[in-house]
Amino acid sequence: MAARTRPFVIVGGGMAADAAARGIRAVDPERPILLFSSEPHPPYDRPPLSKGLWHGTPEERIWRDTADESVTVRVDSMVTAIDPECREIELSNGERQGYEGLVLATGCRPRRLPGDPSGVVYFRDFESYRTVRRAADEGRRIAIIGGGFIGTELGASLRDSGSSVSLHYPEGAPLERILPGPLPRRIAEAFADRGIELHPHREVSDGAPLPDADLVVAGVGVEPRVGLARDAGLEVDGGIRVDASLQCSEPGIFAAGDVVSFPLPLRGGRYLRLEHESHANESGMLAGMGVAGSPQRYDPVPTFYSGFFGVTWEVAGLLECDDEAPGLHLGASIDDPGVGIYRVGGELGGLLLWNRPGMMGRAKTLLRDAPGSTDSEILERLNG
Ligand SMILES: Cc1cc2nc3c(=O)[nH]c(=O)nc-3n(C[C@H](O)[C@H](O)[C@H](O)COP(=O)(O)OP(=O)(O)OC[C@H]3O[C@@H](n4cnc5c(N)ncnc54)[C@H](O)[C@@H]3O)c2cc1C
Repeated sequence: MAARTRPFVIVGGGMAADAAARGIRAVDPERPILLFSSEPHPPYDRPPLSKGLWHGTPEERIWRDTADESVTVRVDSMVTAIDPECREIELSNGERQGYEGLVLATGCRPRRLPGDPSGVVYFRDFESYRTVRRAADEGRRIAIIGGGFIGTELGASLRDSGSSVSLHYPEGAPLERILPGPLPRRIAEAFADRGIELHPHREVSDGAPLPDADLVVAGVGVEPRVGLARDAGLEVDGGIRVDASLQCSEPGIFAAGDVVSFPLPLRGGRYLRLEHESHANESGMLAGMGVAGSPQRYDPVPTFYSGFFGVTWEVAGLLECDDEAPGLHLGASIDDPGVGIYRVGGELGGLLLWNRPGMMGRAKTLLRDAPGSTDSEILERLNG
């Protein structure tokens, strides 16, 4: 293919891939863009799969309409190899495609249970949502393995829609690895009050029987899909390693979303991976701009949100602190508003906003501009 007519190629069919297409278009309105997704659907929003779709959001609302950006979207198309020297990718059917620039947004795949027992639905994509939805609509009993984000969100959503749900996890309470103080215990109480059958301290081991249910769903974490990049000789260190503008170790190839290991300026350039919607959108957009010839420094304040049973919780920054526990300013009930303040080296590094909708903008400003604030100054500024 003549170099002048080569398209930009995006590998991946998630939110980062969609955002990358928009980033390219912001810089280059003309050159063709080809997006290859191994899923049978074009890009869509993933967060509603465990939340909004169970609470009235119509399925039509999740699609990202990537093709409207003059993007050719190829679904059911697994990219199996990259040849950086020839600037070509190869698909599972042997087809080769040249590229002007390449964005890798291959995301994550669900971690499998030990022994990979058959019949388990790994909750990650629209197809797995549909399987669980069908079972719920048929009144089946559903067991969820995993007490993290997916387990708590999906468990609560299923219960809200009248399903019989049990939740099985190795910790003492849901979200215990993520949330501080009394919150995990309070969540366990709220879930039990709502009729979710809780099974703490249940670690699924190889060969052990699965929970007794009509359908077993697992949400036990994810792994970055780095094989394609690694096989092409790109630097990989737990994610696809990129520089401050999301460029991979090979010029002309950028990466974005869950799969990238990037230097976070807010943490002195420490390399990490994030698995959040805002990161997929923001890094995708900048990777797209970069590959199209306008590289930008990626300097986010990480954010994410979650929720269940009317409780919302959001995080700005990272939920890490030095050896001290975070400063917790919580009410007596899980439904009360609260704030968690995380410090690293004495400076503000993360804010947990519990039932405090609409505060994210102020939280981000505090993290970026006033990390030396005292707890009372932080609470005052959050309250406006
Ligand atoms: C149920 C659920 C709820 C969530 N809720 C929240 C939330 O409330 N808040 C929040 O911040 N985050 C949430 N997340 C996380 C968020 O959705 C992810 O961070 C985001 O989807 C990552 O986007 P991505 O495009 O980087 O990767 P992915 O969404 O993993 O997409 C990767 C895509 O690449 C495709 N692909 C991979 N390899 C290839 C290949 N070789 N060839 C072709 N295609 C390939 C995959 O099929 C997939 O389509 C949630 C995730 C899930 C699953």
